[in-house]
Amino acid sequence: MILNQNKKVWCSMNAGMQNYVSINFPDLVPSDFSNEGRVEVSRENKFLSTLTPGKVLGELAILYNCQRTATIKAATDCKLWAIERQCFQTIMMRTGLIRQAEYTDFLKSVPIFKDLPEETLIKISDVLEECYYAHGDYIIRQGARGDTFFIISKGQVKVTIKKKDSLEEKYIRTLGKGDFFGEKALHGDDLRTANIIADDLEGVTCLVIDRDTYIQLISTLDEVRTKYVDDNDDRRRLNEEYANVKLEDLKTISTLGVGGFGRVELVQINGQPNKSYALKQMKKSQIVETRQQQHIMSEKEIMGEANCDFIVKLFKTFKDAKYLYMLMESCLGGELWTVLRDKGHFDDNTTRFYTACVVEAFHYLHSRNIIYRDLKPENLLLDAQGYVKLVDFGFAKKLQTGRKTWTFCGTPEYVAPEVILNKGHDISADYWSLGVLMFELLTGTPPFNGSDPMKTYNVILKGIDAIDFPKNITKNATVLIKKLCRDNPAERLGYQKGGISDIQKHKWFDGFNWEGLINRTLIPPILPKIRGVVDTSNFDPYPPDEGGPPPDDTTGWDANF
Ligand code: ATP
Ligand code: MG
Repeated sequence: MILNQNKKVWCSMNAGMQNYVSINFPDLVPSDFSNEGRVEVSRENKFLSTLTPGKVLGELAILYNCQRTATIKAATDCKLWAIERQCFQTIMMRTGLIRQAEYTDFLKSVPIFKDLPEETLIKISDVLEECYYAHGDYIIRQGARGDTFFIISKGQVKVTIKKKDSLEEKYIRTLGKGDFFGEKALHGDDLRTANIIADDLEGVTCLVIDRDTYIQLISTLDEVRTKYVDDNDDRRRLNEEYANVKLEDLKTISTLGVGGFGRVELVQINGQPNKSYALKQMKKSQIVETRQQQHIMSEKEIMGEANCDFIVKLFKTFKDAKYLYMLMESCLGGELWTVLRDKGHFDDNTTRFYTACVVEAFHYLHSRNIIYRDLKPENLLLDAQGYVKLVDFGFAKKLQTGRKTWTFCGTPEYVAPEVILNKGHDISADYWSLGVLMFELLTGTPPFNGSDPMKTYNVILKGIDAIDFPKNITKNATVLIKKLCRDNPAERLGYQKGGISDIQKHKWFDGFNWEGLINRTLIPPILPKIRGVVDTSNFDPYPPDEGGPPPDDTTGWDANF
């Protein structure tokens, strides 16, 4: 009748005829080529599915010489192609090997994979699935959940992003053969952050890798960890918008803040009355005296490249003989510190919202191996909507993978024990400070507190378990704070295998709308009162700078600023 004919022949089956066919249940993938008609698959008299022309049946038994375990019954008159085992095995092996070699070759030509050992490439090739998309197909939709990683093997795609209030999708960039996408959803939350649309009249072919393979074989690659397809072009364009702005075009309105090296002024660009900016100006002589040159350069670099809604954007830098300047977006809601001072402390919900903003900022930085190192309410600014943004990247640093850094920095109340003990630290120090921030927001004072820095350090070294938690801190919050403030950096939540998503999944965040936060549809707990683009009423007043202009510094250390 049908199968196990020795030659590839036409077979026919009449409706109602039964044939006990292969199929290693539950792999109901059959292996002869039905040409005409319809067959029904069943097992132990239980109907399983119907197969129509173009489907194959029986290949598992044929490949592995095992018993047929499903029944195929002709539902109509059928015409099928049959193929003999030996022949089928050879074909499959050959195509399998060819396929593997082709994929491996292709992967070798993809820059991110070029340094992977051959055996890893072969492993990846074995699990790849090739998918085809027609012109205009959405390969990925923004906001959808997903757990696959894609490499383009043929054609090109376009990346678009839809901002919350806009109906239109904004074109971000085009990706072509060898480019990859989808990795972002595999690192933290599984939400897709952009649309990827097939943009090739001849269609697009992608090699698709599932989450497990990705995590096992690919996620540790530096290039994948740090390269995000949807942002850098966007950011470059933004910086280009400001490329021609000159220091002389800026008009100072009033002072927003005073920090270590100078002041931050609210400014406007002449001729643009509807916008305002923050201009941080730092005295060069003071930077040199305190040997902060390297820190300032890295502040400029990290802030100038960061493209995250939870990080203040730096648009342009200037310098003259006395000062360095940074032109940033202005956040007129004021410092979270001021809001906290006025309210005393925040409730669980309010704290959760602000903490979540910081978690998102950290997610962005840490996935690029950037450590922030200066978390505190003073460095968190409220924008007009009431969302919080991280500012002041004076201590931020990009680490090499797996490396630590030793510079002692940060604010005493927020530094982690390994920083005090000079053991070397990495991004896990930021998780410690996140626990400290939660505590300060919930109670109004940081947990580790002394009358001078040395005393504060002593308290820190005694650990979080020596700290009394006031009654108003909920159990879940307490548990999370304690998991973040572990003495041993390797034990901190966020620094485990699951990464920062372990924090997002913690019970304290149960029910929190992360998606709403990212899309900015979530309503913030406190809406700042801002009456216009030059309203600085949410900032404390500052007296004018005393003590005359600083000396010139023309030694040139700041050439790249
Ligand atoms: P550093 O550690 O480099 O000395 P700093 O503390 O002197 O930093 P920042 O923290 O960057 O400087 O800024 C000081 C203050 O200025 C902030 O706490 C904030 O009040 C205000 N400020 C800074 N940037 C902005 C901004 N983009 N919009 C509104 N206010 C800002
Ligand atoms: Mg600061």
